[in-house]
Amino acid sequence: MQYAKNILETIGNTPLVKLNKLTEDLPCLVLSKYETFNPGNSTKDRMALKMIEDAEADGRLKPGGTIIEGTSGNTGMGLALAAIVKGYKCIFVISDKQSNEKMDILRAVGAEVVVCPTDVEPSDPRSYYSVSKRLGAETPNSWYVNQYDNPSNAAAHYESTGPEIWKQTDGKITHFVVGVGTGGTISGVGKYLKEQNPDIKIWGIDTYGSVFKKYHETGIFDEKEIYPYVTEGIGEDILPENVDFSIIDGFTKVTDKDAAVYTQKLAKEEGMFLGNSAGAAIKGVLQLKEHFTKDDVVVVLFHDHGSRYVGKMFNNDWMRKMGYIE
Ligand code: PMP
Repeated sequence: MQYAKNILETIGNTPLVKLNKLTEDLPCLVLSKYETFNPGNSTKDRMALKMIEDAEADGRLKPGGTIIEGTSGNTGMGLALAAIVKGYKCIFVISDKQSNEKMDILRAVGAEVVVCPTDVEPSDPRSYYSVSKRLGAETPNSWYVNQYDNPSNAAAHYESTGPEIWKQTDGKITHFVVGVGTGGTISGVGKYLKEQNPDIKIWGIDTYGSVFKKYHETGIFDEKEIYPYVTEGIGEDILPENVDFSIIDGFTKVTDKDAAVYTQKLAKEEGMFLGNSAGAAIKGVLQLKEHFTKDDVVVVLFHDHGSRYVGKMFNNDWMRKMGYIE
């Protein structure tokens, strides 16, 4: 018999899937690392499990403990699955711009969800950074995960996602393109790939309203770059320790409208029902066209699943209200 001993054993080993229609005008092969095949439907399962295992190993997380995290949803799902199997409680702090589906999904897997306002400074006591830190300090036998600065986040992708992509492309990958939030995915995968072949180019997808691109190009943390935006999961108003700017060759910014429109296009033209950051990522690949030549093998990572966005990017009333479609 062939079976996994529990759901956590099914994390990773996701397929690589070729893009066809949307990439017709590009000279190269474009492959997607299709992370929604993870049991929590996102790449975050990998780092959630690794962060928990590392915290167990050095005693930060103790038996029966409570896991506390500020999460846009996907990390929460990964943490919740691991917590169920391993016997921990979860409290997640989420900002109010995140979709209701994400909050409902976290509650469905037994987590307590605390909702905070989006449009406040990170240092404001109401921000989700501040609230999660405070709950971490107040709750007995708790562990505050802090995916932004927790090195196990990037390490998970260095140990699993990076080697999988290298093996699946027979070492032929020339470019890796991925949305950047905490930076764990780009930094872990990017470091592994550059160690195998330093010529591989690593591109980050950023949003308008986020600090990454300008910081990478100028070294300046420019507060004028920060304003509210709609795209979920990528872009930040802080510099997380998990973003290793030294392995990133460049960033391209994708508008909220393009990210939403391309999320729909992925579903309708490729049969890929994916999250909003996948729309941003594939539009970013198209924006980088001039960097690609005939023999290149471009891998773009798609983080999560479309079901989390049915009330937004897949709802045409919402799309019209936002002015994204006629
Ligand atoms: N896309 C989605 C949907 C996400 O939830 C995240 C995580 N914030 C990202 C992209 C960015 O990944 P990372 O945090 O590893 O940079």
